[in-house]
Amino acid sequence: MKQHSPPYRKNFQWISKMNRKFEILLKNAGEGNYAIPSFNIYNLEGATAVIKAAEELKSPVILQILPTALETGGAPLVQMCLEIVKRSKVPATVHLDHCSDPDIIFTAMAWGINSIMVDGSGMSCEENLQFTREMTLKIKAAGGSVEAELGKMTGEEDGQTLSSQEELMTDPDKAADFVDQTGISALAVCIGNIHGKYKNPPVLDFKRLKEIRKRVSVPLVLHGTSGLPEEMIQMAMDAGISKFNVNTELRSIYLKTMASCFSSDPGVELVTIMKKSITAMKEAAKDKIRLFRSIDKA
Ligand SMILES: [Zn+2]
Repeated sequence: MKQHSPPYRKNFQWISKMNRKFEILLKNAGEGNYAIPSFNIYNLEGATAVIKAAEELKSPVILQILPTALETGGAPLVQMCLEIVKRSKVPATVHLDHCSDPDIIFTAMAWGINSIMVDGSGMSCEENLQFTREMTLKIKAAGGSVEAELGKMTGEEDGQTLSSQEELMTDPDKAADFVDQTGISALAVCIGNIHGKYKNPPVLDFKRLKEIRKRVSVPLVLHGTSGLPEEMIQMAMDAGISKFNVNTELRSIYLKTMASCFSSDPGVELVTIMKKSITAMKEAAKDKIRLFRSIDKA
């Protein structure tokens, strides 16, 4: 993806203001033992469902876009999300999820996103620090905020041994240094959480999370929330997690709804699928908002 000129720069002011607000909302969440949901968005149905859920339960909410979705949907996808959060009755913002490509980061910013997850977790510790620091300087200079990850989340297919898994987890001492030296606004932690479905029952290192919380001043984020049992979510909030990322669950509900519409009526109207999938995803998002205790926190 090539870097684009900023045709939507006029969006920067209100969205920058909103991101400042979210920095405070995330801090409040961490102190109040609740968390703000951040849902991955691919299209109009997803964005509509998530905002409706947040409005009905009066929760702040984040719409996050992965680089692959950004490349597929382009500027119109970003514009749609910005328009939806602008009209929202609750605080809402748009965030670029997991991005390690400066070109995509700057393109997303030119299109009006300025809450960015700078993801250097695939690099060595030193490279991650340097990359995150450089990107953070630029993003903050444009009025944006930055989430970054220290350690590396393992995927469901990675098949790491237990000892190598521990080496990939966030080191509490290094986390404090990383935050100080990069100037990031939020830190994504690796404490045994993984993206996608958990093959074995999840084991999260809460002792490590509490140590990170003690040493780090910025809000903490947990990715890979979809497969975690409720009591782990509660424990994570009590240990100081301010934001949960949710992708797999809403996406699979969307796909299941479409499949069942087709199997019960091959001639089904497209708007019927849209309406049904919005309702199904909205209910799933509401369940998450309740679980994250962010009802009435807008
Ligand atoms: Zn993630």
